[in-house]
Amino acid sequence: MPLRVESNLAKTFNSTGFLAIDIGGTKLAVGVVSTSGELLSRMQTQTPVSDVWGALKKLIDAQMLQTDVRIEACGVGCGGPMTLGGESVSPLNIPDWRGFGLLAAVESATGLKTYIANDAQALVLGEVWCGSAVGVSDVIGMVVSTGVGGGIVLNNKLVTGRLGNAGHIGHVIVEPDGRLCECGAHGCLEAHVSGRSIEAITGKSSEHATNEVKTEAGKLVGRALVSVGALMDLQLCVIGGSVALGFGDPFFNAVQHELDRSARLEFIRGMKVLPVGLGDAAPLIGAASLARSSY
Ligand SMILES: [Zn+2]
Repeated sequence: MPLRVESNLAKTFNSTGFLAIDIGGTKLAVGVVSTSGELLSRMQTQTPVSDVWGALKKLIDAQMLQTDVRIEACGVGCGGPMTLGGESVSPLNIPDWRGFGLLAAVESATGLKTYIANDAQALVLGEVWCGSAVGVSDVIGMVVSTGVGGGIVLNNKLVTGRLGNAGHIGHVIVEPDGRLCECGAHGCLEAHVSGRSIEAITGKSSEHATNEVKTEAGKLVGRALVSVGALMDLQLCVIGGSVALGFGDPFFNAVQHELDRSARLEFIRGMKVLPVGLGDAAPLIGAASLARSSY
């Protein structure tokens, strides 16, 4: 046994990687990802109601202490909205953070050059790196979990927009005069298909959703994607997040069905939907991909 420990240590001392941080409304996760895109370790905790930074810093410190990998840089995927580069973040699902100075906090806690983007933007870069979208130049990545986010790679490049929020598909209106969204508008995709919204609509956690609920959510996601596909000329959508992955086939089939039914122009008609290839590691590998390619 001691010999085995020694050989593991020797191996990991020689490797390099990235510190990866995923910040969501339900959980905080910190991991180490190798330079070839392998998630080497992960620690996570529930997102507390208050002192979110205190909880995150504990995870960062613990991960930095335990890893034997030489860390080159840090990537952070965080719920939006935010200012470009994450100098100031105000995730809708984390009321504790309004105008929080995330970039400075992480850089000072880790001493690492840090790259921050919307969590779905991170996810799509990770999927292009080593997931379902390898070799695809024009793709949207979506996270359907506590909230609903999106990130777009167009012509092989992440689209950031003026303030870094491009791709925010959760606030595309899918039901005129629909449910009130946390953003203040009515009928946003997020107000109908996020985990929180599904719980509010059905009175049950999304884990206990019926097939009808899963199918309806897929239909609305498909409806939003038809418009986004028409705007951006995309060939693929990859979807992750606990709600989408938990819903599985009934959800993904309904998204594809709605795309096939509603998209009429030739260039939108071929658009495909797939689950993230990196599964539940997608957010952390995505965060690492921000550090890897200073997008
Ligand atoms: Zn909204």
